[in-house]
Amino acid sequence: MLITNQEVEKYCHAHTQSEPELLLQLSRETLETTPIPQMLSGRLVGRLLKLIVQLSRSKKALEIGMFTGYSALSIAEGLPPDGKLITCDVDERSSAIARSYFARSPHGHKIEVIVQDALKTIEKNLAGKTFDFVFIDADKVNYRNYYEAVLPKVEKGGLILFDNALLSGKVLATSERDALVIASVNELVSRDERVENVLIPVRDGINLLRKK
Ligand code: SAH
Ligand code: CA
Repeated sequence: MLITNQEVEKYCHAHTQSEPELLLQLSRETLETTPIPQMLSGRLVGRLLKLIVQLSRSKKALEIGMFTGYSALSIAEGLPPDGKLITCDVDERSSAIARSYFARSPHGHKIEVIVQDALKTIEKNLAGKTFDFVFIDADKVNYRNYYEAVLPKVEKGGLILFDNALLSGKVLATSERDALVIASVNELVSRDERVENVLIPVRDGINLLRKK
């Protein structure tokens, strides 16, 4: 999962301020009770999401791929008290964990959870809605579909962030389907005149886009 040298990653972790205690608990429970806990984004990505939400003064956020809610709570922390995050996932078990932590967080009231396929959610539940911050982190084979479905709903100047944009470095050379899709999205975005972007090699890579 990590793209940077492990010692550097450790150092960055140690020199990034801690997430709140509730998120540390959530990380522990995810590690102990879910089959693929590495999907949880963790301190570096979480603190970065919160900071970017704050810097951009975003108020209407969307997340695609919630898992146990770590990134959702990090985004919600950066939102103002009247801000809102809509997040979705297909998995009932991890969604139940997420909900239990949202209920215990001072930022949980900002979060609406939709347990349903993300493309269906975008089409059915988000008709007429717009967003100023979108975090895309669900099934990688659909990254391109998510991009095209979400871009018309992003306001001018709004942000889209793709997680796992480097997929352990596999985007550089691979025949794996996930990596091929992510590589094609990275390629598309870098030439797309509808957006400006920077591909940041933090953790597993974050592609940060601003809609023109
Ligand atoms: N953002 C989370 C991690 C997400 S892991 C964090 O940083 O902690 C990816 C998630 O995408 C998984 O929970 C998986 O169930 C979900 N997912 C997979 N296919 C999906 C789909 N079609 N629609 C919505 N969510 C999906
Ligand atoms: Ca991820």
